[in-house]
Amino acid sequence: MFAKKRPKTIKLIPIGGLGEIGKNMMVVENEKDIILIDAGLKFPEEEMLGIDLVLPDYSYVVKNKDRLRGIVITHGHEDHTGALPYILREVTAPVFGTRLTLGLIQEKLKEHEVKADLKEITSKTELKLGDFKLGFFEVCHSIPDGLGIIIDTELGLIVHTGDFKFDQTPVDGRPTELQRLMCLGQKEVLVLLSDSTNAEVPGYTLPEKSVGASLLKIFQGAKKRIIVASFASHLHRIQQIIDATVHTRRKLVVSGRSIVNNVRIASELGYLKIPEGVMVEIGEIEKHSPEEIVVLCTGSQGEPLSALARISSNDHKQVKLHPGDTVVISASPIPGNERSVSRIIDRIYKCGAEAHYELISGVHASGHPAQEELKFMINLVQPKHFVPIHGEFRHLKHHADLAEQVGILPENIFICEDGDVLEFSESGARITGKISAGDVFVDGLGVGDIGDVVLRDRRLLSKDGVFIVVVALNKQNTEIVAGPDIISRGFVYVKESKELIDEAIVKVEETLVEMKQEGVTDIAVLKSKIRKNLSQFLYMKTRRRPMVLPVIVES
Ligand SMILES: [Zn+2]
Ligand SMILES: [Zn+2]
Repeated sequence: MFAKKRPKTIKLIPIGGLGEIGKNMMVVENEKDIILIDAGLKFPEEEMLGIDLVLPDYSYVVKNKDRLRGIVITHGHEDHTGALPYILREVTAPVFGTRLTLGLIQEKLKEHEVKADLKEITSKTELKLGDFKLGFFEVCHSIPDGLGIIIDTELGLIVHTGDFKFDQTPVDGRPTELQRLMCLGQKEVLVLLSDSTNAEVPGYTLPEKSVGASLLKIFQGAKKRIIVASFASHLHRIQQIIDATVHTRRKLVVSGRSIVNNVRIASELGYLKIPEGVMVEIGEIEKHSPEEIVVLCTGSQGEPLSALARISSNDHKQVKLHPGDTVVISASPIPGNERSVSRIIDRIYKCGAEAHYELISGVHASGHPAQEELKFMINLVQPKHFVPIHGEFRHLKHHADLAEQVGILPENIFICEDGDVLEFSESGARITGKISAGDVFVDGLGVGDIGDVVLRDRRLLSKDGVFIVVVALNKQNTEIVAGPDIISRGFVYVKESKELIDEAIVKVEETLVEMKQEGVTDIAVLKSKIRKNLSQFLYMKTRRRPMVLPVIVES
């Protein structure tokens, strides 16, 4: 007797990054092997009060860790690497990445005191992880040393672009590998997964070198000190800032922990070229006159504790902002950060300094491909199926439309969201299920111990304050022994709202009497009834919803 041969299937399961910007993570699996592409985090949105980081819900990977053969990281951005220190505490698997990618990961793992089996790869590496054979191609992006991934499966090739752009004149001379992609088009490509971040932007993304030219012009026109804020990981940009510094015979001072770290790691690994004598320690800044100095710093997103935020509010120990200084914000605000960036720009102008930012000065170019580049990628690779990745739903939708325009059959295009199980078999592809995939919050040292309920509480507290009722009851007959007393914070000024507080006390007393008549003695029920009645009463009187906390002491 022969065992019946099982039909071949390959599943793609986005754990994060689809329907959102951030926490990219994708499972590729067959019956016996799993590989994970990227393990990223997301920075919290404004309504996630007090949350430090957001991780993907990778419980599916943990549940199936016996089948996990490796984690492949496309590049060193935190939306692709930031979950590693957390997931590596729960699964054991080798982590593959290029030299710079691993250098940056190593630094993070050290901070978290997590050990890992890091394995360096290049675009030439061929890997075998379980039944999957992996190859790679170089991609150009806003961080050096990025890779796209080609996975050879029984059903054809899976091509994952990572984050990329088609810059024909990249700063490091390492463009996205067109020839390699063209060869793929002649093979059987089962599915292309491609970066959707800029799918709404028509045309082509500006080459990074155009930013270098704008920066140099600004540097040449600057009379006094120059302060430039950039992403800490944008080493092409940082190289161009260094080049403009050298060109205008200035010296470079670096401020802000992440950018100091990255400049150190990248120059050790040879990804930054800094001529001897250009760098000046921040403590030495006052020994140089303003027109000799360029300060490279963090804070391009308006982060409140960053170097630029402190400099602009005159709160930085070594770097002060003076009239006549030039400040360049060499980044575009990530959606959600516009307001804080705008506040910083205001402060720069108020100081009498000059501000340059994306809107007015061409000091930023995206690292992601625009519409014409996206169509070009699909035309090169010629996939049978297409899955837009790395974007909010609207980006994915626009990218899907582009795929249809260049001839991918609509029934072969899948707009998936986190948790969808997309199954490929010889008969085609379809979404066959859904796994749990949401946000896991990191708050201080705790991972995942903060749920939506706690967040709702924090939202209420921050908006309408807290209203605490303390009452002591006789254990036997639930009569009031002491109180009720009211403690309130952030809701109303207690002294001026005596009437409201008195009425609230009466409300609590009435509720307790009512409950006694109904024979209710359970403390939990009493509390919930007090909370409900008091919330209703306060809302009726003030149209606000403070958090109501009844405290019942039995004596
Ligand atoms: Zn990236
Ligand atoms: Zn990304």
